[in-house]
Amino acid sequence: MSDCLFCRIIRKEIPAKILFETEHVLAFHDIQPQAPVHVLVIPKIHVESLAQLEESHRALAGELLLAIQRVARETGIEATGYRTVANTGAHGGQSVFHLHFHVLGGRPLSWPPG
Ligand code: 5GP
Ligand code: ZN
Repeated sequence: MSDCLFCRIIRKEIPAKILFETEHVLAFHDIQPQAPVHVLVIPKIHVESLAQLEESHRALAGELLLAIQRVARETGIEATGYRTVANTGAHGGQSVFHLHFHVLGGRPLSWPPG
């Protein structure tokens, strides 16, 4: 069993504010929100990052994108817009090595990132 932080959240060993979950995907609120809405969308299987996605994950990758759209709908930011970010590796600023998409919205966001 993985002692990865997000795997532990999936197994409900660590509490999280879950927005929704499906058979393959979990959406929960980031513990340190950077915007009024800041939700993380993750696969329920352990994949380290986008760099480890494989052909066998094709259907899962599509589900993750549709889950992002559902997050926007259910948090009320669909009409105003939002940003989706997947930090990958050291230069990407990844700190938890379980693939996750940040969904940020609820205020105008600046660009480019630092
Ligand atoms: P990364 O920096 O890897 O792209 O993003 C990791 C995210 O996970 C950060 O935004 C951080 O605030 C969030 N995070 C870290 N630990 C926890 C936790 O225990 N619970 C929740 N809900 N989010 C966490
Ligand atoms: Zn994991």
